[in-house]
Amino acid sequence: MKTIDELVDEGVGGKRVFVRADLNVPLSGTTITDDGRIRAVVPTIAKLAEAGAKVIVASHLGRPKGAPDPQFSLAPVAARLGELLGTQVAFATDTVGESARATVDSLTDGSVALLENLRFNPGETSKDDAERGAFAGQLAGLAELYVGDGFGAVHRKHASVYDLPARLPHAAGLLIATEVAVLRKLTDEVSRPYAVVLGGAKVSDKLGVIDHLLERADRILIGGGMVYTFLKAQGHEVGNSLLQEDQVPAVTEYLERAKAKGVEFVLPVDVVAAPSFPDLKNPVDTNPAVVGVDAIPADLQGLDIGPESRKLFASKLADAATVFWNGPMGVFEHPDYAEGTRAIAQALIDSPLPPAGGTPAFTVVGGGDSAAAVRILGFDENAFGHISTGGGASLEYLEGKTLPGLAALED
Ligand code: ADP
Ligand code: MG
Repeated sequence: MKTIDELVDEGVGGKRVFVRADLNVPLSGTTITDDGRIRAVVPTIAKLAEAGAKVIVASHLGRPKGAPDPQFSLAPVAARLGELLGTQVAFATDTVGESARATVDSLTDGSVALLENLRFNPGETSKDDAERGAFAGQLAGLAELYVGDGFGAVHRKHASVYDLPARLPHAAGLLIATEVAVLRKLTDEVSRPYAVVLGGAKVSDKLGVIDHLLERADRILIGGGMVYTFLKAQGHEVGNSLLQEDQVPAVTEYLERAKAKGVEFVLPVDVVAAPSFPDLKNPVDTNPAVVGVDAIPADLQGLDIGPESRKLFASKLADAATVFWNGPMGVFEHPDYAEGTRAIAQALIDSPLPPAGGTPAFTVVGGGDSAAAVRILGFDENAFGHISTGGGASLEYLEGKTLPGLAALED
């Protein structure tokens, strides 16, 4: 993989450089609620601009259906990116149309433009190679060089991620280089004990990674919505909690394999539950109940791990040398269900209490919502070893899969 330093050394002055970023930030209306992903790509853009390139930044945002949809416009991101770079960022209101061409034509050396949401064009995510290729060809017409830095999208075989780098001389951006170095430390060069904390909504999203981690981790802690499929597999009733009944056999097999391999599975002993999913737009006090996992009432749903579980999980992280955490422990977006997630973030920060003379634990937070959660809950990002900008991408890397967007950056 060519580094951006090598690309800059070869000379980018006056050249149009297409930077595929991941600016898929959470929005409330047009307000960016967490700008972590924008900040993460600033060093790459700044480096290219300082070297005199005409920088064309592009990204997806959300899941529009292959056509313009104002609620997924990147316009608010252009404004924020400009603030972070300390310079005006020109915004094109399309991706390969008149606005994009005019915006790119007007770029001067060292200036930056952002294109509108790539997914407003059906070619970006098409399963049809020819349709994707045609869109990639149009994008290639805008630029002379390509820099891949959208780590959160490298697991997608999308036109701007996979097909475009094949059409232009390319290099990996600073963010991708950092993310890959971190992931290597979680796969090839792991310090033990290695503890993994998994949460989030859907167990089916995370089954592949559990399968893979069973061969590598020493301890796997489960929280979030996926917990209920595990509890069900252990014979507990889970009330109205999120349950993926069809995944119970797979989960049962994992629990058995873990036992046979001596991998410790840690499940919550209590949960915070309520009759219904909370209103996140208008978060009022929901007066939740704490119940043991063997006594979840039929009319309640579990929305966070309980206080005893938080202590248990923290104790299981206290002596870990490596911790990878993906997926919030509860519906952290509501204050009544944020304490489990807060406790894990705190445990990651506390866990590097090294034994005298020892090295601190290496802690990694992965996942869009998990990364947003630690920032929204007010933790200092620098207290963690690394906060990844990619959820699915990190998980697929840890599963041992080939990521199209990384493969495309190889020579
Ligand atoms: P990440 O983006 O970090 O990979 P996910 O997207 O897998 O995480 O999951 C995040 C979502 O999971 C959050 O929006 C959170 O509200 C939800 N969630 C966590 N626990 C529960 C639960 N017990 N029931 C329903 N949803 C949950
Ligand atoms: Mg998510």
